Amino acid sequence: MRKIDYHMHTCFSADSDADPKEHIQQAIKMGLEEICFTDHQDFYYPGTSFDVDVDRYLATMMDLKQTYQDQLKIKIGIEVGLDCLYQEDIKNFIQTHPFDYVIGSIHAIGNTEFFLPGNFFDGKTKEEAHRDFFEETLRCVQQFDDFNCLGHLDYIVRYGPYEDKSVDHALYQDIIDDIFKTLIKKGKGIEVNTSGFKDLKTCGFPNFDQVQRYYDLGGRIITIGTDSHTSDRVGENVDRVIEELEKIGFKDVSTFTKRVKDSI
Ligand SMILES: [Zn+2]
Ligand SMILES: [Zn+2]
Repeated sequence: MRKIDYHMHTCFSADSDADPKEHIQQAIKMGLEEICFTDHQDFYYPGTSFDVDVDRYLATMMDLKQTYQDQLKIKIGIEVGLDCLYQEDIKNFIQTHPFDYVIGSIHAIGNTEFFLPGNFFDGKTKEEAHRDFFEETLRCVQQFDDFNCLGHLDYIVRYGPYEDKSVDHALYQDIIDDIFKTLIKKGKGIEVNTSGFKDLKTCGFPNFDQVQRYYDLGGRIITIGTDSHTSDRVGENVDRVIEELEKIGFKDVSTFTKRVKDSI
């Protein structure tokens, strides 16, 4: 299975200062075969701007791609916040830029985000909040077509005013199954986001039981991403994920060029 890191942020994201060149150097050091930059674009994100300077981003990354072409396969992607309120903006943005790969992620719902206290979680039990999150994810994957993989399926596990933030997937398995089935039918995939290893000390987003479930339902399109916001995290735990994916039955990870899956 190829060693890739298909989710990383640089100084082109509002929440990172990382130098993309250092990401590349770290990727080479870690023995990765291919990486994809996926800086943030979230339209009308509440509170902070997550708008990428897209022309400068593309120009910078194209230059780096050329410079390092003999050492590393570099793709230029984007992580776009899927939000049903801004469907037209998102669609136009993706369709008018030459991205290799698009991660669709749910970072905000109805102009509320998950990070600051007192917002999305107000007046909800944990179960209600988690159910809302998965239902909105399902709505997004049904309504949007301009993305390749769904980002961090159960990312909500990081947030909320609860001592135990863990997600009890069994409570929402019917909704999660519908998310998987919709993705599979549309020719889209999921990622294993390894930032969960660090934050939660246990698993990726999603955990491997859910990755197994996706596989059992017929899902074969999968990527691995560290969601690095600093260069020292690039490539972290990729070997560990590959081992698990092979146990599940995956033959390889997926990579993309101009939003089309590479045939290897
Ligand atoms: Zn994200
Ligand atoms: Zn990210």
